[in-house]
Amino acid sequence: DLEGLVVDEADMRADLEKVLIPEEELQAKIRELAAEIDRDYEGRDLLLVGVLKGAVMVMADLARALHTPISMDWMAVSSYGSGTKSSGVVRILKDLDADIMGRDVLIVEDIVDSGLTLSWLRSNLESRGPASLEVCTLLRKPDAAKIEVGVKYIGFDIPNEFVIGYGLDYSERYRNLPFVGTLAPHVYGGSGEQEA
Ligand code: 5GP
Ligand code: MG
Ligand code: MG
Repeated sequence: DLEGLVVDEADMRADLEKVLIPEEELQAKIRELAAEIDRDYEGRDLLLVGVLKGAVMVMADLARALHTPISMDWMAVSSYGSGTKSSGVVRILKDLDADIMGRDVLIVEDIVDSGLTLSWLRSNLESRGPASLEVCTLLRKPDAAKIEVGVKYIGFDIPNEFVIGYGLDYSERYRNLPFVGTLAPHVYGGSGEQEA
């Protein structure tokens, strides 16, 4: 019922510390990225590869803002790490449906932190012989900015804080917030294997 929904939404927002990127700024940036991608891929067919589950919101909004003809495919990967740090040891939970040989491929990511997951993904897809392979990420953290992970399209460089919302989760929650924010310290507990 509607009353229950309103209470749940209030609960979710009570867990927040602050809004880092408001909805309007996210949407404006997605439109900018789409315009850039449209220019770069003019006259070509593009395969967008979304990395589940975090990239669902970026994928949905970016795909709708593009004029370039696109197909969508999805991969789910899991990286082992201690706590919230990833190790670069990656396992494929769901592989692509499509053969990407000879295709123009654009990986769509929510966030690049250490860059370990992405560099693994990049070389995995590169070995399948795409015509081109680029990366678009909505968010990038300072560690990733320091190393060369080959991200062509970047939405926002953000501080080294754990963020949630707009696809990003903490224990599978908060993905449906329409903005990117940080959680109040009281919300945090431990975590193990992290799904991207
Ligand atoms: P990386 O391998 O670049 O360190 O990050 C791998 C994955 O960790 C990302 O795809 C994302 O799922 C998760 N991650 C990294 N930083 C954050 C963050 O600030 N918030 C959330 N919710 N997930 C993050
Ligand atoms: Mg996660
Ligand atoms: Mg991701």
